[in-house]
Amino acid sequence: MSRRLVIGTNNPGKLREFRELLAGCGLGFELVTPAELGVAFAPDETGTTFAENATIKAVAASRATGLPALADDSGLEIDHLGGRPGIFSARYAGGNRTDPALSDEERVQMVLDEMRGVPEERRAARFRCVIAIATPDGGVQTMDGVFEGRIGDAPRGENGFGYDPIFVVPERRMTSAELAPAEKNAISHRGQAALKACEILRGMANGSPTS
Ligand code: IMP
Repeated sequence: MSRRLVIGTNNPGKLREFRELLAGCGLGFELVTPAELGVAFAPDETGTTFAENATIKAVAASRATGLPALADDSGLEIDHLGGRPGIFSARYAGGNRTDPALSDEERVQMVLDEMRGVPEERRAARFRCVIAIATPDGGVQTMDGVFEGRIGDAPRGENGFGYDPIFVVPERRMTSAELAPAEKNAISHRGQAALKACEILRGMANGSPTS
């Protein structure tokens, strides 16, 4: 029997990474998006933490489709900016449903402007990711990952998405946009959280049918 798992996102960069990450854990799930199922998916991210927002998205995707669903909430925390943009990473500098957010490139430029002249030792930052898995019976489990780095002084690299071109991975002396996708996935916040998610999903795949 085919088992389907909904990936609750409209972000193509995240979706690409989830497809790669979850394929790597050899699950018997077919991954589908709400859009592919013809289901509208635009939950209000009203939480105040990554975990709350991940849960909101996963529960919304599961309720809308009647299938188990996985969603993440993630973002960039910059120490010099007091942890900003944090949970507002996708909406940094405003932007909501009626007034669309800036492009990735514009948000990157905004961070670079805010960090102009800040010395190397005060450019520490990290990506955080919390994944939530929600099941139609109302169950929710969360797991997280953290990816430590620094904010560079100019965009570099073509891979990844979002803030990757300015996120320098110190041990590689490259931005996460310069890493090959598999290299980023092996060490990233989303990669770490996905490894934990794989354990949960394996248990589900070996358990009762979900579709
Ligand atoms: P979310 O959909 O509210 O979780 O938005 C997360 C936002 O954080 C993304 O739109 C990106 O701007 C940023 N972000 C999260 N993970 C990454 C990553 O792996 N690389 C670059 N930017 C990321």
